[in-house]
Amino acid sequence: APPETSPPSLPDALPINAILVVNAGSSSLKFQVFATDASGQLDCLVKGQMDGIGTRPRLRATGPDKKPLIDQSYSVEKVPDLPAATQETGDWLRQTQKVNLVAVGHRVVHGGPEYSRPVRLTADVVAQLERYVSLAPLHQPNNLAPIRTLLSRRPELPQVACFDTAFHRDHPKVADYYALPERFYKEGVRRYGFHGLSYEYIAQRLPDVAPNISKGRVIVAHLGSGASMCALANGRSIESTLGFTALDGLAMGTRPGQLDPGVVLYLIAEKGMTPAAVQDLFYKESGLKGLSGISNDVRELQESADPKAAFALDYFVYRVSLFAGMLAAALGGLDGFVFTAGIGENSATMRARIAEKLGWLGVTLDVDANTARKPLISRNDSRVAVYVIPTNEELMIAQHTLALISGRAERAAE
Ligand code: AMP
Repeated sequence: APPETSPPSLPDALPINAILVVNAGSSSLKFQVFATDASGQLDCLVKGQMDGIGTRPRLRATGPDKKPLIDQSYSVEKVPDLPAATQETGDWLRQTQKVNLVAVGHRVVHGGPEYSRPVRLTADVVAQLERYVSLAPLHQPNNLAPIRTLLSRRPELPQVACFDTAFHRDHPKVADYYALPERFYKEGVRRYGFHGLSYEYIAQRLPDVAPNISKGRVIVAHLGSGASMCALANGRSIESTLGFTALDGLAMGTRPGQLDPGVVLYLIAEKGMTPAAVQDLFYKESGLKGLSGISNDVRELQESADPKAAFALDYFVYRVSLFAGMLAAALGGLDGFVFTAGIGENSATMRARIAEKLGWLGVTLDVDANTARKPLISRNDSRVAVYVIPTNEELMIAQHTLALISGRAERAAE
C-alpha cells in the first residue's frame, strides 16, 4: 500500500509565487515547482514524476528536504495516457501546493531552425512547433500536449517553451550541415544537437565551479540513458555529437549512436523492415541493451558477470573516447572536460575508464578525488582539468521562464 501522504505545510496567509516546470515524455511526466521572488531567487518546493503512464501509472514526489509527499499507484483505466496523467498530477498539485502559480515552463525537444532561445507560448507558436513533430515524432507531440491543455484551460497563465536544440543553434555553419543537396537543409534536415538545456546549465555553472577553464575549450559529456557530448568554446556550443535526431553520436541505453546510413538501407531493402520497425529498433532495442542483451542500465551491466555486459561497457567507453577526439579537434585543443548526467555523475568507475583513454589529450585523474566525487577530479599537474558537475535542466527552464515573464530576457537580448 502507498505510504500515508500529507500535504506540505505552507503558510495559508502568504501564498508563495511559484513556477511549474513540466517535462513531458511518452511514458512519464516529470515536474518541479520552484518558489520565486522579486530578486529572481528560485527554490525547489516539489520534485516529482508520474511514470508508467499507460502501463503501471505511479505518481511520486518529494519536498525540498527530499521528504516523500506522495507515492501513489493508479489503474491503467484511470491514467491511460499523457492527458490523464497531466490531469491527475495537476489535481494533486492544486490540492496540496497552496502556491500562486505565475508561469509554467516546458521542456520542448525541438525548436526547429527558428528558435535559438526560449519563447512565450501562444496558439500561433504552438502551431509553429507542431511543424517540427516530423523532426521529433517520439518527443514533440508529448511535449506539446500539456501546453495545449493549459492554453485552453488557463489562457491567462504565461507559458514558456525551452528547447533542447536552442543552445546549439549558433554553432558554425559547417557544424550545421549534412553533405546533402541544399534543398534538404532548407526544409530542416540539419545538425541540431540536443541536451541543450543541460549544456547551457553546465556552461552557466563553469565560472563558479571551474573559473580556470570557463573561458577555454571544454568538452561536456552528458552521459545518461540518453547520452551526448558538446564542445564549448568560451561557454558557447560549437559542435556536438547529436544531429538531426537524438540517435547520432554515442551509443546510449537503447539507441545505437552513430551508424552508417547504409545500415538503414540494408534493413529496409534487404530485411523488408518498415519505418516503424526500424524506429523501434533504433530507439528501444539497440545501444547498451542491444549489445549486452541484458540491460540498458550501466549499474546492472557493471554487476553482471556476462562477457557481453562487459563488452557493452567497453564499447561505451571507446565511443566516448573517440568522440572526445573529434570534439577536441573542433575546439583546436582542450582545457577542460566535464562529466554530467546519470552515468557521469554517479559512476566513478566509468569516469576513471574514460579518463584513462583521454590520457593522450592531457587528462590525469586524481583517483581519490574521483572516488569521493569531488567537483575537480583531475590532478594538479593534469594539462586538462576534469570536473563532475551535476546537471539541472529543470532549474535552467525555471530560470528562462522567470526571465521571459519578467522581461529580463528581452532586455538581455537587446
Ligand atoms: P539519466 O538519464 O541522466 O537519469 O541517467 C540514467 C542512467 O544513469 C541509468 O540508466 C544508469 O545507467 C546510470 N546510473 C545512475 N546511477 C548510476 C550509478 N551509481 N552507477 C552507474 N550508473 C548509474
